[in-house]
Amino acid sequence: LFAQECQFVAGAATLDMLPELPLNEVAFSGRSNVGKSSLINALTNRNTLARTSNTPGRTQQINFFDLGGRLYLVDLPGHGYAKASKEKISAWTDLVNTYLKGRAKLRRVCLLVDARHGLKVTDREVMDMLDVNAVNYQIILTKVDKTNQSDLKSVLKKIEQELAKRPAAHPEVFMTSSAKGIGIEALRAELASLA
Ligand code: GDP
Repeated sequence: LFAQECQFVAGAATLDMLPELPLNEVAFSGRSNVGKSSLINALTNRNTLARTSNTPGRTQQINFFDLGGRLYLVDLPGHGYAKASKEKISAWTDLVNTYLKGRAKLRRVCLLVDARHGLKVTDREVMDMLDVNAVNYQIILTKVDKTNQSDLKSVLKKIEQELAKRPAAHPEVFMTSSAKGIGIEALRAELASLA
């Protein structure tokens, strides 16, 4: 799947722009700066697909990428940016909520969480949205190269305990590092099983 061409299909900045597409979808969500662009680029072997960006102020939009004509990878706008205005947060919530409610072919949301920080308030808000909409989701820890084994273990344990209480959560947590190539192949295999 990931050896195939990966192409940008469409971007949607407003609710009426969300395209109807024929393939299954896997979406990626996470706080600004969590490493979402880096992970998408590592998964797809591309450097330019999703732009790494430290400018959370840019236009929020949902981007659709085609993986070999078999699966869409959907890049959701980042959340949890400290300086985001009320209007911006509400625009984000509207866009993502509409997306989550209307996607019959959405197989899973990968919720990216920084391995050093664990779950934050806005992550739990996203998990609430996913549980309410019965959208299957999975936690992907990012930047595991920046933490040590014992810290990682305790972050992981906490998250697993929390996931056990949530109806739409996938119990398995993936651990990744885009920088070091850790966990990338395992995540590819998981995503390929959803096509
Ligand atoms: P996004 O805002 O979620 O798309 O995050 P980016 O992919 O732009 O990454 C944010 C910052 O974290 C950048 O400075 C990246 O170089 C860095 N980063 C991303 N992934 C990793 C990783 O696996 N390990 C390390 N050490 N840094 C990472």
